[in-house]
Amino acid sequence: MSDTWTEHLSEYIDGTLPEAERTALEAHLAGCEACRTTLEELRRVVARARALDDRPPAADLWPGIAEQIGVSSGAHQVVSLAERRTRRRVAFTVPQLAAAAALLLRAARTWRCTARRSERAARSRSAGRPRI
Ligand SMILES: [Zn+2]
Repeated sequence: MSDTWTEHLSEYIDGTLPEAERTALEAHLAGCEACRTTLEELRRVVARARALDDRPPAADLWPGIAEQIGVSSGAHQVVSLAERRTRRRVAFTVPQLAAAAALLLRAARTWRCTARRSERAARSRSAGRPRI
């Protein structure tokens, strides 16, 4: 029923699966009826979800919930789904930011080393030339 590719079907539908994995998944789909069935079910869910009307709730339930769980209801803010989706697109997790910072530092070090080597090579070339 479930294999290693099942968890990638959602990414496949969203178009976020890396090309190599997408190609491998498509090859797998050719021979796996269970994944094809699951994929079709997911596509139907996505189609039905897209057909839903995205409207704000008729009533704000948070004050009643906050009262029941004993927290202040004054510090909440209703955010539309469209706004949340927009925020999600530009959000990075701390590990992602740390990885990006590490890559930038490594690139800067590589660039600096390359620049120094080029500078030294240029100096040694010009030192070897006879001066006129
Ligand atoms: Zn499969």
